[in-house]
Amino acid sequence: MAFSIETLKQVWAWTDGRCACKREGHKHENRCDQVLAWGRRGSPHLMGWEGRHRVPPEQGGDDTAENCEILCWACYAGIPVDDAREENS
Ligand SMILES: [Zn+2]
Ligand SMILES: [Zn+2]
Repeated sequence: MAFSIETLKQVWAWTDGRCACKREGHKHENRCDQVLAWGRRGSPHLMGWEGRHRVPPEQGGDDTAENCEILCWACYAGIPVDDAREENS
């Protein structure tokens, strides 16, 4: 039901600590690429993020790295980023 830290670190390495969301209807075009902060998991702020199941557990999805995508909080929550502070890198 929840990803282990090891799994999240693996996905984190794959995406280089960025949001890999490509959903349409979001504020970003193509890939989101929002830079994330490892220590901000579950934080609904800039650089906050959460691990999401590609296939939901209730549909048989596992807690594996292959089934995990790391999303910035805005994508995770499905709302546009409040871009007032995006200068911070
Ligand atoms: Zn994103
Ligand atoms: Zn997105």
